[in-house]
Amino acid sequence: MRLDDKYCCYCGYLLGNLKETTKEHIIPQSKGGNNKYINKVHCCKSCNGLRDNLSFESFYSKVETMMNEAKVRNDMGEYYNCEGMLENIKYVKEYADKMGDELKYKTRPS
Ligand SMILES: [Zn+2]
Repeated sequence: MRLDDKYCCYCGYLLGNLKETTKEHIIPQSKGGNNKYINKVHCCKSCNGLRDNLSFESFYSKVETMMNEAKVRNDMGEYYNCEGMLENIKYVKEYADKMGDELKYKTRPS
């Protein structure tokens, strides 16, 4: 995890209250992501729920749709900065692309 620990990696919300902080798997475990530090980022509860186990492409589209439909409040009642979120999603995706298989469980040689 190389992203700023104090802020949600997607919406930039300041994660002062631990109850609002979740560990987000960059590659969801349901899609072969591992449980290592490098595959996790801090993320607010809202964004974690929002992304669910979507690919970054689908998550990006979802936020674009939200922006168009003006569904822009998170669980804490604050407004999402959708444009900023789209930038951040691209940023995390670039990281995931660069890290590649490092973020996934290794298949054991048989
Ligand atoms: Zn967030």
